[in-house]
Amino acid sequence: MTAVPIAPFGDVLALFRDRAELSRTEVMELTGLSRSTVNGRLTALADAGLIEEIGGGESTGGRPSSRFAFRADRAVVIAADIGATGLTVGVCDLAGEPLRHVSRAIDVWQGPEAVLAEVASAVDELAIADEVWGVGVGVPGPVEFAAGRVVNPPIMTGWDGFDIAGWFGARWAVPVVVENDANARAVAEARAIGSDNLISLKLGTGVGSGLVFNGAIIRGSDGAAGDVGHTRSTAADDENPLPCRCGNLGCVEAYAGGWALRRDLDELGIATASVADLVEQVRRGQAEAVQAVRRAGRVLGDAIAGLVSVLNPATIVLSGLLADTGEVLLSGIRERVYQRAAPLATRNLEIRLSTIGELVGVRGLALVAADRVLAHEAGVGAA
Ligand SMILES: [Zn+2]
Repeated sequence: MTAVPIAPFGDVLALFRDRAELSRTEVMELTGLSRSTVNGRLTALADAGLIEEIGGGESTGGRPSSRFAFRADRAVVIAADIGATGLTVGVCDLAGEPLRHVSRAIDVWQGPEAVLAEVASAVDELAIADEVWGVGVGVPGPVEFAAGRVVNPPIMTGWDGFDIAGWFGARWAVPVVVENDANARAVAEARAIGSDNLISLKLGTGVGSGLVFNGAIIRGSDGAAGDVGHTRSTAADDENPLPCRCGNLGCVEAYAGGWALRRDLDELGIATASVADLVEQVRRGQAEAVQAVRRAGRVLGDAIAGLVSVLNPATIVLSGLLADTGEVLLSGIRERVYQRAAPLATRNLEIRLSTIGELVGVRGLALVAADRVLAHEAGVGAA
């Protein structure tokens, strides 16, 4: 399955998705298309129910210019955000706004059939009455995007090569997009703040990362790009690098992931019941827990300083449970990034916490699914 190229019709639709509402004149100015071509596109979009005339436009030369608004409520997309220990399935409008959602505890190691059956049952529970136009599925592992499969996932035993898109496609006859969960988050973060060049870090049990540059996810040639958590950490001792969950040695995650911090604290005799409990101890000012998170920040800062120099993002945004430690984590990251990355690359760089909230993954997956569907819709409409 390949993405349908965005036709000129799609350019006008993309504009509406970006700006929410526009006048006929604005569409002409922004696309460079003639009045008659724009009229044709607007009529086709209105016939498809994707825009509606809202009136009240500005006057140009005595003639009122009609205004049109994107109809995000025309249909819905389903977003299934599958994590290692839980999943959230949301029904979202075409702008990615979650309308309703349900969450379930799962164990991703149970394998695809068991976990996807939970997704299907969650979809049933949502009792969706609207037209469903697409499905976005997020998984905590590397995704061969065009094929909709996970490939050699370090923490998803039994999922390697499983045809996730095919599994959904057999149940719902709509386009299905499978995306790495960190990539989906990066899309949600980038669209929320209108940034075209952004690095998103998901810091929870593990270290996930997604890169959006020039407004698009950086996947690389095999879908492996952007996985900072499993690059070699500067904290790794050459003689005795710590083992990572992925089977490799000395990864960033083995020093800065929530599981690694719990391991370190355990060795100091400080018990943590979960990553959430660790975060709670940091908030209470437990000295060793605070130190561990500060150190993790420096490890992460070292790991992304090189990326900042090479790619020059405008924003680095942190989400996930560990991000709830706020300044404790941020300070270490800032310290190392500003110290080690190229000055020109950090001059306007903003390092900040996500403000989207817990449904960031669901939003990102809905946007990725809507991107696919509306590009497809555009292709059909323009034909
Ligand atoms: Zn690793």
